[in-house]
Order: sequence, then C-alpha cells, then structure tokens
Amino acid sequence: MIYLTLLLFTFTSWELPAPIDKEPVPSAFFKDRLHAYIWLNWSVVPISRIADTIGAKEEDILAIGTRMGLPKPYPVTEEEMERLHCTIIRRNWHLLPYEQIIKLLKWNTQQLAYTLREDDFLFIKLGNFKPQCSPLTFQEPDEETIEYEKQIGNMVNNLFPRGIQCWGEKPFHFIKELSDINNNHKVEVSNKEIPRYCSSYFLKYGDPFANLEESYPKGYIQKLRANGVNGVWLQSVLYLLTPFPWDMEISKGWEQRLENLRKFSEDLKKEGMKVYLYLNEPRAMPNSFYEKFPELKGVNEGEFSALCTSHPDVQDYIKNAIKMICEKVPDLGGFFTISASENLTNCWSHHHGENCPRCSKRNPSEVIAEVHQLIQSGIELANSSCRLIAWDWGWKEEWVEGIISNLPPKTAIMSVSEWDIPIIRGGINSAIGEYSLTEPGPGPRALRHWEIAQKYSHPIFAKLQIGTTWELGSVPYIPVLENVATHAVNLREKHLDGCMLGWTLGGYPSPNMQVFNLLMDHPEYNIDIALSQTAEKRFGKELAPIMVKVWKQITQAFKEYPFHIIVVYQSPVHVGPSNPLWVNPTGYIATMTGFPYDDVKNWCGVFPPEIFANQMEKVSRGFMNSLAMLKTEIGNNNIDNPMYKKNFEQECRVIEVCAIHYESTANQARFVLLRNELTNSNVSDERKKQIIENLKQIIQREKELAIREYNLQIVDSRFGFEATNHYFFVPLDLVLKSLNCEELLNNWIPQISR
Ligand SMILES: [Zn+2]
Repeated sequence: MIYLTLLLFTFTSWELPAPIDKEPVPSAFFKDRLHAYIWLNWSVVPISRIADTIGAKEEDILAIGTRMGLPKPYPVTEEEMERLHCTIIRRNWHLLPYEQIIKLLKWNTQQLAYTLREDDFLFIKLGNFKPQCSPLTFQEPDEETIEYEKQIGNMVNNLFPRGIQCWGEKPFHFIKELSDINNNHKVEVSNKEIPRYCSSYFLKYGDPFANLEESYPKGYIQKLRANGVNGVWLQSVLYLLTPFPWDMEISKGWEQRLENLRKFSEDLKKEGMKVYLYLNEPRAMPNSFYEKFPELKGVNEGEFSALCTSHPDVQDYIKNAIKMICEKVPDLGGFFTISASENLTNCWSHHHGENCPRCSKRNPSEVIAEVHQLIQSGIELANSSCRLIAWDWGWKEEWVEGIISNLPPKTAIMSVSEWDIPIIRGGINSAIGEYSLTEPGPGPRALRHWEIAQKYSHPIFAKLQIGTTWELGSVPYIPVLENVATHAVNLREKHLDGCMLGWTLGGYPSPNMQVFNLLMDHPEYNIDIALSQTAEKRFGKELAPIMVKVWKQITQAFKEYPFHIIVVYQSPVHVGPSNPLWVNPTGYIATMTGFPYDDVKNWCGVFPPEIFANQMEKVSRGFMNSLAMLKTEIGNNNIDNPMYKKNFEQECRVIEVCAIHYESTANQARFVLLRNELTNSNVSDERKKQIIENLKQIIQREKELAIREYNLQIVDSRFGFEATNHYFFVPLDLVLKSLNCEELLNNWIPQISR
C-alpha cells in the first residue's frame, strides 16, 4: 500500500470517528496523565496553550515542568505547530479527548476530522480508532506529588549533568539550510538527461499549490539540481486545478492554483528542472452528487461512487481538464498516474468494475487504458510536449498486456524496479515488495512489464527509492551507496526513458542521489569511479577513499536487513529508542508508521522474532563498525576545509543514527520476548535469573542509545523528521526514554529479582 492525501474536499461535512470503549495505553513512566501531558507537549506547544487546554494557569505548568527538570520552554511558533501537527496529534492520542486535542491545536472539529481522514491516512496510522480518554483537568499538586516531580527532576540531573534542551538546533532548521540560495549556482542541462524526479523532503500537506515555495524553495531546488535531479513531483486533483463542470463551487480557487503552478514551472525551468503531476483520477464523488447526475454514476463504495469513465461526459471532462492544464502551464514536465489503486477513480480502479452497468460489460484493461488515452489526447490537443507516465501499481498481472497494448504509443510504462526480488535473510525466505534499498533492482516484475512495454514500443520508467525508504524513514537518507550505484548500473543496461526517484520520502539532496545520477549520465563510469567522485565532491580527495570503503561496508551490512512489508511499516525502526519499554503488555496492535507499542509479533512479518532481532543487530553492527573504522582512520587529523568537515560530521551522524535505530529495534524485540517469558509460570529459577540479567543489559543499552540519539538530534534537526509523519520523535522523548530505563533498572529489576 502506498498512501497519500486527497487535499481539500469541500463536499462533506466531516465528522470525527466516535471513540471506542478501549482504555488508552498507560504511560510507561509517569504515574498519571497530567505529568505525561506536560512532558510530551513541553517542546511542541506553547506553555500558555498547554495550560489553557486543561484549565491551568501558565505558572502552574511552568512550576511542574521546572520541578520535573524540563528545560526553558521553547517558543513554538504557529508555523512550526502547523508543520508539527501530526507529531502533536500522535502524542496526545492516548492522553486527551478530541475536544482537548482541538483546543491544544486551536483548530475546529472539521479541521481535525478532515486531517485524520485525509492527511496521509493519519487515522489509520493512529490505529483506526480513538481510545476513550476522559477530559484532563488540572489538579493542584499536593506535597506528595511535588516530591514525585522533584524526584523526576533529580533523575534528569543525574542522567544529563550538563542539562537538557527542548530542541538544540531549532526544529526544521534543515529547511532553512536547504533553502539557502547559492548565487554562483550554474545550471547545466545535458540533452541526454532522462527525467529523474523526486518529492520534497519537507512537503507541506494540505494545499501545496497555495504556496509552492514552502515545499520547493529555490535554494532546495538548486541543491537537488546539483545532485543531478531534474524534476519534482506533486500530487494534484483535477477539480482543484480546473473548473469542475458539474459543480464549479468545489473548484474554488483553481485559477490561482493553476497560475501558481505555471509560475513555479517557469521558475523551475530556469534551474533546469521540471514539474510532474501525480494523477489519481477522476476522483469519486459523494452519493448526493448523483441525485442530480444519475447518469454519471459508476461503482459505489460506501458514501462515494465513481465518476464512470465509460460515460462520454466524464471522458470529455478528463480530456478538457488535461488540455487546460497543459495550455496554461506550458513548462509542465508531465503526468504520472495510478489507475488501479489508492482512491476510488475509474470503475475498475478497486478491481470491482462488475458493479457498474457500463464498465461491467467492458474489459478492465480497456477501461484503464482508456483513461490514459483521454489524458494523452488532452496533452496532444494542447500541443504540449509533456509526458504521460502510466504507473502499473495495482494492475492485475492478467490485465498488464491488455492495458499496455491499448495505450497510446507515447505513453510511458512505469514499474517499481525492486519489486519481487527474492531474498533469504537469517535463513528465512522473503521477497522485496517496494520501498527497498537492501537489494539493488530491477526485479522480475519490472523486467516483465518493461519487456511487454518495449514490445509495443512504449517508453519505460523505473520507480525507485534512492535516498531512503520505509526501511528507516526518520533519517534523511540511508548511505548504502553501493546498492544505489549497482542499481543504476543495472538500469543503465535497460535503456530507461526516465526514473521516479522516490515516493514522499527520500527527497533529501543526498550522496545517494548524486551517485545514481552520475552513473545514469555517464555510461563510461563504473561504480568505483562514481563512488569516488561523489565522495570527493563532499569530503575532498583525501577523505574520499575511506568514505567509499565505509559506504561499501555499510552496504554489505544492509544486506542483512530482514525485509518484509510488515517490518518496514510496523516495527519500531522509525521511532528507534524513543519507543518506551512497558513492563506490562499494552495489548495494543502495532500501527502503520504510527505506534509500534510492544507488539513484537506484529513487527516481524515472516521472520521469527529472534531471527528478526538478530538480523537487525547484524545491520546495526555493520554500521557501528564502519563508523568506528572511519573515526580511527581520521584519528586526530584535522579536516581543514570547513565544508568537508561539516559534511563529514553530518555523514557520521547519519551512520550513527541508522546504527542506533537498528540496534534499538533488536533490543526492543528481545525485551518484549524476555518480559513475556518471565510471566510464564514454568520458567525455571535458573532461566529466570538469566532472563533478568539479559533484561538488565538490554535496558541499560536502551538507556545509552536514547541518550546518544538525544545528543545527535539536538545538533541535527533532520533526525526524526519525515514529510508525512512530521517528527516521529523529539529530543525530550529521548530524555523520557532514558528516565523510563533508569526507573526500570532502579525499581523493576530489583522487584522481579526478588
Ligand atoms: Zn463505469
């Protein structure tokens, strides 16, 4: 499953999904909700708002926070809160009822309901239900509570003798750095370059067309270009960019959006870049719409029904809308589609066209190909040179040849390159789905589809993940450059016509991007030349050889990654050591890139948990050892060039954070397994002793990792961030985890040892 945002939907008045009768997950550390609430919101919401929401005074909150050892509050701005809203909603999900979450955000019900449903499937990431939380009201702390707060403060002082900070480097500081304009930037575009487009590393959701500069500032565009990227992509909704013929009201603001897009593509052209629009069209309409236009109604799904693309009026709508976009945005690079997945679009898009009176009589391949014929003819009616790229996502195998053979010759076929590559990890058979850097493609599925495409003379595109993937979403990139380079060399032989460099993650201007694009542009380069050039550019001639060696070692270690789609979505890999250790099972089920909880059995996919943990540990060890080798080789040598020095330090941090997350994932799996084993009544005394000893070591190690990552996150605001999940964790979460571990070591371990 890939997932995305629907943007503004103006039809339905959104309602919040009713909370279900399930207790929220208790804090793994705090004795009550109030203290958890203050801690978790301290660095992401203004103190006055934290106070207001629960009927407290600002000074009450400040007093409690100070006693708990929390640092001077960070003055969060509205803009930062907007960019942090997923982070804020997630951390209050088990603490507050809807009304108070709304108050905390200064939103209204509609806004929260809309965001939960449409903001990259946030509600699903939160578990697809809201636990029942009673309103939290402020209680003046009594003496005992004040004592409790002071004890927490003492723990903080002991663990962090030099004090703690809310953020250190400000949140989103990386946006500022990436936005810096280089006045000496030279644009060189070779005619031989094939399209290579990615998504913004910090894409702002909602209505990106309202202000494209927020997601794609000029300095960032320059940096992408300097790393060989020549395009960016955006999700678009036809009725928001062009007037919807049956109800102009829902298209309100389309002129401005289209004009912004025109201007943006024009500016991008000057930088040697193009814009690509993702289409998942035509969007289904609410059933009420069809009371007026019953003839347009196709397949029904709950409250929505497809706009049937077998109807001539719908066909005209698609064609004309595309024509209008192409005419008004002459510098547009192209469109790519998903036509059998994601939102309900054509009647066969969710594989059930049999429920439409028209499409049931037609072959699914014919209906899907026709949607592309309409788009392509819109492009041609506008005399535009932009491309149409048909992504095969969700196409049933038996449809593929039928669709491809019916597409207009100019339409390109895009396939996920790494799909279906068989792997064996820790003796267990698995296969790569999408989102993988652990094994270089292309895999059998893409090869098969490209072959069919070439048989019918269509251009071919690869969809890849160049920077990072869900194998670790909270770092700017995973430096497995040798796999990226090998993939590029493999693809070179296939004579591709273009590449999509990543879904919503992986858009950081990384060495991965550079090595990939160098190899695509220079057929005469081999992997070693490209790796060396990439390293020299970032770290200078002297450091380059050792960096190449490190990248190669890391790549080898990464080949141990226990890839399975469940692992990448549900394991604690993205949150790493910020995930608490609960001594009592929470009973909660891990959610997709949301809460892993302690649900080890749903972290591992096809891997038995012990093997899963061993494999994660092997990956981590490879990264840690490479880092140690790097530091030894550099020794006391000073790196004189400030840019090389900065790049070197950043690279070390990226490697270290990857290592920490993989090790922590292994630790957490083992912790839960041992904790559960301990409750087994027939555990021998000897085994019990051994379990406790192991638990102690794991907790100790988790504490160290949390502190280490805290020290990395406060100097580098990129860590923990990903565009669709916002910050997975903030520095104070890592402090909290170290308190959680310390408490277990001081109290729980002695208690179970008795
Ligand atoms: Zn239909």
